[in-house]
Amino acid sequence: MTPPMVEYPLDSFFSTSYNLELLGTGDLLPQVEWNTTKNRSKIKEVYLQLLDSLPKVEWRHIMSRNSARPKAIFHMWLQIHNRLLTVDRLLKWGMQVEPKCVFCKGVDETRDHIFFECHYAQQVWYKLMRWLKIQWPAHCSWGLQYLLILARTRGKSSQANVLKMVYSEFGFAIWNERNKRVFEDKEQNAESLAREIACICNVRTVVRSRAYLQSCIF
Ligand SMILES: [Zn+2]
Repeated sequence: MTPPMVEYPLDSFFSTSYNLELLGTGDLLPQVEWNTTKNRSKIKEVYLQLLDSLPKVEWRHIMSRNSARPKAIFHMWLQIHNRLLTVDRLLKWGMQVEPKCVFCKGVDETRDHIFFECHYAQQVWYKLMRWLKIQWPAHCSWGLQYLLILARTRGKSSQANVLKMVYSEFGFAIWNERNKRVFEDKEQNAESLAREIACICNVRTVVRSRAYLQSCIF
């Protein structure tokens, strides 16, 4: 049995133009006629029109239809926006932490360094690219790698689909390996980590990309 309070607030809320003005959406939606019937379809119209009014972000296609684990996709979003708690950010907040990269111990830890510029991350990435039979330029910075990912994951090809998943799982695996070294004093070599990423991607790939992945030998 539906509780009566579930329907009541929506009916009353969308029955007056006054509430639209409170939301600040009245001017944006001149073509939507408001009445107390079919509120469900009206809510959808409002939602879609509000989305259209926002600028599109360049990374949207690597987030959508990505077969990686949701936590890996969310991690990728944090990495792209430089919101991970890397040492350079902790130092800015006044925390006392070891500044050097836990992988190479020679360069200060930043997002750009640990996710691609460090030789450990590069070893893992190039193993994955050899597995996927993708030519990847040498000596990329994090920024260049990101631009290449954006360019090569456009479209609906199997390779584009797999590459966005591998990129997500790669970043998540590097971050987890970094945390294991910092907090648990455990290490995994690049070969082993790349193999683990390949296994996860093999399991998670969608049916239409399976033939491509099966043609790739790690
Ligand atoms: Zn390093």
